[in-house]
Order: sequence, then structure tokens, then C-alpha cells
Amino acid sequence: MALLQIAEPGQSSNPHEHRVGIGIDLGTTNSLVATVRSGTPSILKDHQQHSLLPSVVHFAENDVIVGLAAKTFINQDASNTIVSVKRFMGRSRADIRFQHPYQLEGSDQDMPSFVTSQGNKTPVEISAHILAALKHRAEQNLVHDITGAVITVPAYFDEAQRQATRDAAQLAGLNVLRLLNEPTAAAIAYGLDQNTQLQQDQNFAIYDLGGGTFDISILRFSKGVFEVLATGGHTALGGDDIDRLIVKYAKQQFSLESLSNQQHTELMQLAKAAKEQLTTENTVNLIFNTHHLTLTQDLLQQIIQPVTDRSLQVCQRVLRDAKLKTEQIQAVILVGGSTRTPAVQHAVANFFHKEPLCSINPDEVVALGAAITANQLVGNSSDGTLLLDVTPLSLGLETMGGLVERIIPRNTPIPVTRRQEFTTYQDGQTAMLIHVVQGERDLVEHCRSLAKFELRGIPPMTAGAARIEVTFQVDADGLLNVSALETTSGVQSKIVIKPSYGLSSEDTERLLLEGFQYAQQDKLARHLQETKVEAQREIEALKQALQIDEALLNTEESQRLHSAVKILEHTIEGDDLEKIEQAVQNLKIYSDMFAAMRMNRHIDHALKGTRVDDWATTSQDKDH
Ligand code: ADP
Ligand code: MG
Repeated sequence: MALLQIAEPGQSSNPHEHRVGIGIDLGTTNSLVATVRSGTPSILKDHQQHSLLPSVVHFAENDVIVGLAAKTFINQDASNTIVSVKRFMGRSRADIRFQHPYQLEGSDQDMPSFVTSQGNKTPVEISAHILAALKHRAEQNLVHDITGAVITVPAYFDEAQRQATRDAAQLAGLNVLRLLNEPTAAAIAYGLDQNTQLQQDQNFAIYDLGGGTFDISILRFSKGVFEVLATGGHTALGGDDIDRLIVKYAKQQFSLESLSNQQHTELMQLAKAAKEQLTTENTVNLIFNTHHLTLTQDLLQQIIQPVTDRSLQVCQRVLRDAKLKTEQIQAVILVGGSTRTPAVQHAVANFFHKEPLCSINPDEVVALGAAITANQLVGNSSDGTLLLDVTPLSLGLETMGGLVERIIPRNTPIPVTRRQEFTTYQDGQTAMLIHVVQGERDLVEHCRSLAKFELRGIPPMTAGAARIEVTFQVDADGLLNVSALETTSGVQSKIVIKPSYGLSSEDTERLLLEGFQYAQQDKLARHLQETKVEAQREIEALKQALQIDEALLNTEESQRLHSAVKILEHTIEGDDLEKIEQAVQNLKIYSDMFAAMRMNRHIDHALKGTRVDDWATTSQDKDH
């Protein structure tokens, strides 16, 4: 399998042309936009100097409100105010198993839509509103037009979730240069890819504790490429849980049993403010009506321990998946607003036995890394190095017997093109079904089906004679193109993969884990399937030969051959590999004999038509 093409988009042909790349962190709680100005990446702020844009969209009667102004409607008009829309991206209705306050519409397999006062809105449309607001913010800050954007996504996002993100960007009128994994963006912001003198591979841990989610990724930097070794996380662990723990503690201290919704919301807001203040101050007073509580950093550390402990358990597991010890991690990066809490930083430092990198604002680090990459992709970078991202799961297609032929293995840097030749299975076959799958297992049934398409109009040939060239191309945006070409006739067919439903992060993780766990079992299953397919092919070929030349055999020979075929046909219906192999051997005795007879006869035939001159030196005796 050769690496055939690598194309890079957006390289400027005219060095004087001004090209602007922006980086976008499209977050669950907050989103940001950044760009590189005079060689320095910086966050683009709104006119009130806010860096963060809350990822909240409110559908008012005649208006769509995004960001801070939309936040005020979360409590008073929940169904028209969408928060955390990222959790719905690229998911089918059946995939959405978490709790949410929205009314969704759509069939199980489809992208759901939110029922709002402005009609039904899909997650893609809602995300597009957030992206459009960020684009607007960027335009207000920049003199030149935006050439393109790099948008970050979690490392575990599958093709469907990535595609949904791209669709949203397109809807917002953004030219997507690339989707970049969030942990990779953070590593780029710290310049961890710039240490090119290092011969050895480097491993990095990116600990991302946001508002409602926790993600840990282990990256390996090797020969200029970031590779995702393992990812893990928790879809309901973050700053919101810290706030809840503070509220719980406060309620105990204040001896408050039950609170009205209004009071609860108020106390949550106070807790959140106190927590955020504690990043810069040692003590903070939390005053709630007549109650009073003094919080210190030490006390906060105790209160939030359930959250830090839980996150570190996940870190432990992910390190095990990556087969690494903490000593083998060269750097730990903190990402996400919640890692500003000193207690979280201490917990991480203790676990990894090293001080984590946190000199760059953890809310901004991902957007800054995306801006650096965008700047490179529009052709402004002076060093010319280009960062590659990788495919999260292997991509392949179905071959005979329900087996998967892996075309692009997971963690292959993109963009990438891989080409492989296939052939027909039966004589006279004029069509071929191309079934594209994603996953790490050997059998199609254990992988995820991405798309199916047909190549028709293959000229009828004997089995194995046609040459079908299948090309898998993942472009810089991660979009997968699959095409099939019959090389002798030039008939062609292709598809762009835009899956209609997604996998949850747990599912992606599961597919990866299963790939490792079942490697041995899959090898056996693959061997069994291959043996069956091969046996079936033998039988078909033999039957065709019998139709032509059965007369060469005497009755006994013919009976033996037919019964050997019957036995094999019977055994390949079962799954006993040993029996099948025996039956193959048994048939081979008779089929070899038959093949030899046919060969002799063909030679006789061939020689009959030759003239003396052609065979003068070798076969005079046969010339008659
Ligand atoms: P996401 O990646 O989910 O969009 P962010 O990275 O923006 O989320 O993190 C939001 C969380 O960070 C919120 O829970 C917020 O309370 C918390 N946060 C923000 N600033 C601070 C701070 N100074 N100290 C502690 N937590 C903070
Ligand atoms: Mg984030």
C-alpha cells in the first residue's frame, strides 16, 4: 500500500497577497476565535473585551441571540434557549441518551431537530449560529477578509460528528481549512511540535476539564506528526460538578434542607463566582441571605476531591490503554476553564509527578493553537512546517466473506490518499458493491458501516481478471472520498462520505478497545472466512471446468470428485476450520488429477494446429 498523494490546501501562490487564517474553539460551554497577528497568536474579543462567547443560542420571536445575551434566557425560556449543542452534533436521535430539557423531533436514525418558537432547528444550524457570531467578531477585528478557518473538535469525534461540524461551518459561510483535534491544538499552542532536534518520540498528556465535560488525551509526537495514542473522558464531569459540590457543602453548613429553584440557581451562581475568585485569592466569603461561609483553597480542595479523583481514575485507564507510565510522559498540558482552580492543578501535578504546563490561559490555549495552524495553512508560516492530523479509526472496505480490508489504518496522518486493486469474484461479474466501513475489527459486522455504493458496467471477464482500483482519499478537512475505477474499461463510480448518524465517544472508544481485545479472535475468524471464500472459489472453478471437460473422467473418477465437492460444500457451511481444511485437501487430490488431465488435453489440442516449422527442433514426432 503506497502513499500516493499528499496535497495541502491554501498554500499562497502570491506571497504578497494578504491571507488571514482564524482558529476557532467551538466549545460545549464557551467558544473562542483567534488569529495570528505579526507572528503572535491572540484571541479576538468582542467590543466589551470579552474573550469567551458562551455557546448558547436563544431563538426569540424574530431574532436569534447568541452568547452572553442568550444566557439570561436559559432559566426563563429553556426550550428556546439551546445550551451544549455540541453534545448533539453528528448524533442520531437514538444516540442521544443523556438528559436534556429539549423537545426533539425526527426519526431514530436521523439527525434530530429542536422544536423552537422559530420552527425546528438542527444541531448543525444552531452551531452555525455560534460560528457565525465568531466569524462576525473576527471580521470586526480584522482589516482583511478571512481566507479560512481551522476549527477544533474533540479527539474522539467520529466522522459523523466531524462532518456535522464542517456542515455548520459551511452554513456560517466559513471556508474550513481543517478540523484539528483539540489536544493537538493545545500542544501546538505550547510549541511542542517545534522541538525538531529531538530524535526520540515524545509523549504528551492533555488534561481538559471544561464546564461540563472532561477529556484526557495522550498524544505522541513523532517525526513531525501528532498521533493520538489514547483518549478517554467523561461526558458529565466538569466545572458544573464543582459548583454542585460547593452548593452541597454550603447547604450542609447553612443547615438548609430544601431550596426553591430560584434559590438553588442563585446559590449555584454564588458558588461558581466564589470558585472562580479562589483561583487568585486565598480566601473568599460566600454570603447567601443571612448565611455566611468562608472558603479557602484548602477547603475547596477537599470539597472538590470527588471530581479530581474521578478524573484521575480516567487518566489511569487511558495511560494503561496507551501502555505508558507517568514517567514516560514528557509534558502535561492543562486545558479548560476548570483547570484554573489551584486544587485541580495540584491533583494533576501529583498524579503525573510533574508540574503541568499552564502558562497559557487554559480557556484560550485550544483556540490559539488552532490560529497557529490556520496561519500555516493559509501559507503565512515562515518555517514551512505543516502539522498533520490523523484518522481516528481505520477506514476500509468489505471483501468476500464479510471481511474488512483496511485501506487507511487509524492514526494515519491526513491528508492522505491510498489506492488498492481489487478484482471480481465470479466469471462475467459486471457490478461490484463497495461497502465502506470504519473500525478496528476484522469482520464487517463488528465495524461501523459508513456507506455503500455500486460500480456498474464492468466488462464481463473471467473471475479475477478485472482490475478495480479503489481509492480512499481523506482530504485536509478529514472528508472521506472513495472512488472505484475499472482500469481496462475506465468505468468509474465514487462517493463522498457524509454519514447521517454518529458514534458517541464511548462507542468510538469501545470500537478501539475491542480492536485490541479481539485481535487474536479476529485473526482466527479472518482465517476461517478466508479459507471458506477460497474453498468456495475452488468449487466454482471446478464446477465450470466439469461442465466443459467432465468427459475426460471415467465414472468412478467422476463420482469421487463430485463426492469430494459435496463434502467440502457441506463443511464450509459450518465453522470447523480443521474439517474444512481436511475437505480442501481431500478435494485437491481429485481436482489436481482432473486439472492434469485437462492440461494434457489442452496441450494436445494446441499442438494439433501447429506447423512443422514451429516445432521443428522439439516436437517432430508429434507433427502429423
Ligand atoms: P468548555 O470547554 O466545556 O466549553 P471551558 O473550558 O470554557 O468549557 O470551561 C468552563 C468552566 O470553567 C466553567 O465551569 C467555569 O466555571 C470554569 N472556570 C472559568 N474560570 C474559572 C476560574 N477562574 N477558576 C475556576 N474555574 C473557572
Ligand atoms: Mg473546551
